[in-house]
Amino acid sequence: MQHKVCSGLWKTPVVGYNGLVFPCCSNIDLVLGDITKEKFSSIWLKKAEGLRKLHLEGKVDTIIGCKDCSFIHDKTISTGYLTDEELAAYHEASSKGRNFSFNGAILMIEPSSICNLSCVMCLQNTLRKPGYQWHHTRGPGHIDVGLFASLLYDLAESNIFFERISLFWQGEPFMHPKIGTILDLITQINKKNKLSYIIEIHTNGILLNEDLMRKLLQVEGLNIIFSQDAVTPKTYSILRQGGDFEKSIQNIKRFISLAKSVPNPGHAIRIQCIVQFANVNETKVFYNYWKDWLTSKGLRYYLDMIEKSDPPNHQDLPNVYLQFKPLTSGTYMEIDGQMQFVGFERARKLFKEGLLDAGLITEDDKRF
Ligand code: SF4
Repeated sequence: MQHKVCSGLWKTPVVGYNGLVFPCCSNIDLVLGDITKEKFSSIWLKKAEGLRKLHLEGKVDTIIGCKDCSFIHDKTISTGYLTDEELAAYHEASSKGRNFSFNGAILMIEPSSICNLSCVMCLQNTLRKPGYQWHHTRGPGHIDVGLFASLLYDLAESNIFFERISLFWQGEPFMHPKIGTILDLITQINKKNKLSYIIEIHTNGILLNEDLMRKLLQVEGLNIIFSQDAVTPKTYSILRQGGDFEKSIQNIKRFISLAKSVPNPGHAIRIQCIVQFANVNETKVFYNYWKDWLTSKGLRYYLDMIEKSDPPNHQDLPNVYLQFKPLTSGTYMEIDGQMQFVGFERARKLFKEGLLDAGLITEDDKRF
């Protein structure tokens, strides 16, 4: 039987703030290259080919990071593999010396690895515990603006297209002192060169100001995700440690109101709730809070629960989604005073509990 091939080396490269390139956001042991020394295009289209061959031959156990990947070894995970059609398209493109480009491909570029918060489910929190330290390929820092621009120009010159470019990884993007310049650059370069349909950015929303909000609304294909998780100060302070509850809520509301005044069908605003131990019984409160506020402003909302996302109706702008997500499989976090690993099944079970609490699914829902 043909083995399944992880799509990481075809679809999910990550460029860290320091220029190191990884195959996916969970393999920080495997450095594919360094864009301060060579072009991303050369790393992605040439150097990564050897590793792709190993994946295709089923020799994942010989690849650093991949050999221990819970994604590969957890048989309950069924998504994230290359389809037969994608494999055929890749083989055809490489036999003709052409670039391959896949639906759903995402390039993550990290503006900053530093965060202003210390959320319980996040590496930033783990790092602050005694005995934990940054991995040898990582550290705290911001991307150099010139390096960021040269990466975008390299993508344009090499005709490398990603369906999504995500300005995010392990830190808060708005911690970058020149995030305004970064937003201007991606707006201008993407407009001219069509690098991507979607420019995604995740934020806790606290550092946004009016000027940055207006810059964000200039970004074509903006998909902004507000990591909120809680709508009560108590739960917010447990989950998003060091955060400013009031400010985060006010900034989300202000951003949505601004977006309403400059409607753009290509924009999406997601208010996200990662269902986890501290908020699993509050997903209903979260859902009702945002539903009621949006309705009071005459705004529609769409639901996004990973497997099921309502299609937007572009008559009703802005496109606001209430997004519910499980914890990322492989999260290492403190639970009941102890650091614990949360695998795929545990995260999914919790997720289902939360969705049931909110009345968004029924017990017999086969998807969960
Ligand atoms: S096998 Fe795991 S670590 Fe390797 S590329 Fe895929 S998701 Fe990343």
